[in-house]
Amino acid sequence: MHLTLHLTHACNLRCTYCYTGEKFPRGHMSEKVAIRAIDWSHETTPPGEEIDIVFFGGEPLVRRDTLERCVEHSQRLRAETRRPFFFKVITNGLLVDEAFLEFANRHEILISVSCDGVREAHDASRCDALGRGTWDRLEPRLRLIRRENPYAQVTLVVTPKSVRWLAESVEWLFGLRFRYLHLQVQHEAEWDRRSFRELRRQYRRLAELYVARMRRGEKFFLNCFDSKIHSYIQGETLAHQRCSVGRGQVSVAPSGRMYPCVSFVGADDREEHRVGDVWSGLDEEKLAGLACRMQRPKPSCEGCALTDRCSHWCACLNMRTTGRIDRVSPVVCEHERMLMPIADWVGNTLWKERNRLFLHKFYNRAYPVLSHLEETLEHWAEQRGISLDAVDEAIANLPDESVAFATGKE
Ligand code: SF4
Ligand code: SF4
Repeated sequence: MHLTLHLTHACNLRCTYCYTGEKFPRGHMSEKVAIRAIDWSHETTPPGEEIDIVFFGGEPLVRRDTLERCVEHSQRLRAETRRPFFFKVITNGLLVDEAFLEFANRHEILISVSCDGVREAHDASRCDALGRGTWDRLEPRLRLIRRENPYAQVTLVVTPKSVRWLAESVEWLFGLRFRYLHLQVQHEAEWDRRSFRELRRQYRRLAELYVARMRRGEKFFLNCFDSKIHSYIQGETLAHQRCSVGRGQVSVAPSGRMYPCVSFVGADDREEHRVGDVWSGLDEEKLAGLACRMQRPKPSCEGCALTDRCSHWCACLNMRTTGRIDRVSPVVCEHERMLMPIADWVGNTLWKERNRLFLHKFYNRAYPVLSHLEETLEHWAEQRGISLDAVDEAIANLPDESVAFATGKE
């Protein structure tokens, strides 16, 4: 179960592309609602199954007390029932300090920080209430976050205004040693021919940089290529793992009303998208109706060879771009058609070279666990000033048989 708690609509920033935050009447989630939401997820999720709690906003660290109470309450439930809880906070980073990072490390809270990249790209949209860019204030905090939380993710929103710095921004963030980068194209923006051409150019540059890093044996996650390569390898299998609006995930508004996903919460006033509340639980009939609308084949996609790999199934994305869960925006379609061949070039290039890291990353089911162990070891050594060169060398010299699960796909 993925439970997203919109702890508040309040935010210290005014990003120009924001689809949540201060544009809605200020509302904080009370501690009572937050705890009830956690108890509801615990009561309705089968014993032993994990619950992922995502703290969202506005800026969730505006309500740091509530966040901390939620984590402590979940930890008590974990101790009493052995239920695994995982936590993630999605933050603009400006309120992150050493005390919060210590709390996050103690409770294994994953930090996902929003930064659009180099100064020009970031300040193009991520402004404060006075319209001033926030890069100068964020940059030292980014370094602090990376130092204390090596698994921290960075989300970059790509807009027509920031696209020309995309590859430079990704390289800058890798240079700060962030390894998990999540690009989020602002599909709802005005993408004209010129900005789309620039996006293609930037993706091609990124593809070359991706291949070069893989050849050097550097581990990282870059969603735009990784997810498309996975979709090629797994095909229909992956299609079955997709979200089906509200099944296995729910977003809770500050009021306690429930929605299928973050984009549906908005001003918390659209009755047709509300699927329940934390007191009476989910409205199963309504959920089934939404899922049925979502899963119906889309006439605009009929016969398209990319259906199994395309994002057109995402209700949240459709909602944000067309206002309807079952209608795909032409920008989403064009973007998918542009990205897919570039991602496939990356996959084919590395497959043909039998790149060891590529095989390990995409064909070894144990990769996420092994990679996490390696990173934990690296972080431990880094904090103690110990060199892991000898370990790296041993890993690089592992015999070929250690690359398991490689299956044939040319
Ligand atoms: S930091 Fe997030 S919630 Fe705040 S204005 Fe920016 S996008 Fe919106
Ligand atoms: S690429 Fe376009 S037509 Fe094809 S499945 Fe995606 S949205 Fe539909």
